[in-house]
Amino acid sequence: MIYDAVIVGSGFSAIATVCNLVELLPESASIAVIGDDPGFGRGTAYRTELYLHRLNVPAGRMSLFPDRPTAFVDWLRAHRRPLDAGDFASRQDYGLYIRDSLAALLRNRKSRCRVDFIKAKATGCVERYGGALGFLLDNGNEIAGRSIVLCLGVGNATLPVDLSRLSAAARAHVIENPWRLSWLRRVRASDSVCILGSGLTMIDQALALFAHGFTGKVTVLSRRGLVPLAHVSHPKPAMEIDVDALPGRMSELLHVLRRESVRGGDWRRIMDGLRPQTQALWRGLPDAERRRFLRHALPWWNIHRHRVAPDVFRRFEGMLRSGQISVRAGYLLDVEEADTLTLHYRPRGRKSVASIEANWVVNCTGMERAGIAHSPLLREMRRQGLIEADPLGLGIVVDARSRIPRSEGNDTVIYTVGALTAGQFWEITAVPDIRMQARNVAQAIAERV
Ligand SMILES: Cc1cc2nc3c(=O)[nH]c(=O)nc-3n(C[C@H](O)[C@H](O)[C@H](O)COP(=O)(O)OP(=O)(O)OC[C@H]3O[C@@H](n4cnc5c(N)ncnc54)[C@H](O)[C@@H]3O)c2cc1C
Repeated sequence: MIYDAVIVGSGFSAIATVCNLVELLPESASIAVIGDDPGFGRGTAYRTELYLHRLNVPAGRMSLFPDRPTAFVDWLRAHRRPLDAGDFASRQDYGLYIRDSLAALLRNRKSRCRVDFIKAKATGCVERYGGALGFLLDNGNEIAGRSIVLCLGVGNATLPVDLSRLSAAARAHVIENPWRLSWLRRVRASDSVCILGSGLTMIDQALALFAHGFTGKVTVLSRRGLVPLAHVSHPKPAMEIDVDALPGRMSELLHVLRRESVRGGDWRRIMDGLRPQTQALWRGLPDAERRRFLRHALPWWNIHRHRVAPDVFRRFEGMLRSGQISVRAGYLLDVEEADTLTLHYRPRGRKSVASIEANWVVNCTGMERAGIAHSPLLREMRRQGLIEADPLGLGIVVDARSRIPRSEGNDTVIYTVGALTAGQFWEITAVPDIRMQARNVAQAIAERV
């Protein structure tokens, strides 16, 4: 059969799109969801086994549906976790909320469209009868649809050094995907750990280590040694920002934002004022300025924009003060094997080489922004000319309606939801933005059915 809509992926973007489609499509319509995620609907972010891993967006902004903003807070209350809209819930609970929201929509069997969940990995594409696009699955089957939504996430960044010279035993102590938390059980309490990358993933992993009874030392190495900043419990109101009045050159723009931060008394006010306008600001920037932003301002943007819950930050600060964790800034050059692993790096701003000895190396360098590199399916789709890589390495080219431009006017239209569309929208990593995009894409598909 040919489905009206085929969703590829099974994380938040996919489930948000499905929920909206179930609400919008007629009973006669059909949807297939292809996903290889063991916790269908949770993706990397919300399938954590640790209750202490918290959301980095307040509960009041995490509803699946933009037009029902209290839905997640209501769910928390109904499940005896009475948090306020400004509190930071557990990511595990958020995973359960997504599952429950989808289940509630699917229960209504009589008046909803057909939804088939297919647990498989999509490996390639083939054009089918009537212009539909078919996806080849790793279980040997094929699923075809007239509207396609790619919700593949962006994958983990790979380590920037060659590890092929390390023995198998040493390689087993390099954790390339920290989200498989089973590695924590192999660490001895007094071991030493070097975490590469100093963003939100690093904080999550450090918390998880110490929660497992770890008493050794953690050394964090990242290019600039910048760590995420904290939310505050009672934020001041966001500042009003007129994006049209902001300068187009990156250096002048950053100067204005710094000046306004000082004027506003708390830089969070300017970041919160910018947040709903960032997509418009990005749209107005010429390519050269976007490149400049990515080259020079990205680490600063990340630590101010992607903040941690206040009490998580306090716990992390305590570990820094006690010396359990130390942070160094430098460029990793090489990883060598001796009694332990030795990481050679060039400290930031110096020509000399320094080193860190550690029993374990953990890759927390974050998301792979060049989305096409991490996905065999996307590489194959590009080879077939179905999609185009974003020139800044930010995923795939889509238009302002999240459509692959090449598919417009064809019998099958391909949409993309989530961080793979960062080249068009930039601010499209977190739930408040993805849920809007999912709604818009579902509406566009409903118009075609
Ligand atoms: C650790 C972490 C914490 C975060 N915390 C927050 C937060 O507190 N608040 C917030 O708003 N945002 C948070 N985010 C951002 C988060 O990325 C988004 O909220 C959202 O989860 C992204 O979902 P996604 O579906 O786009 O991607 P993913 O969650 O990565 O899901 C993509 C899915 O597609 C599947 N897939 C990929 N390729 C194929 C294929 N070929 N065939 C079949 N299936 C495939 C993958 O297995 C995966 O399940 C966090 C992100 C991370 C990594």
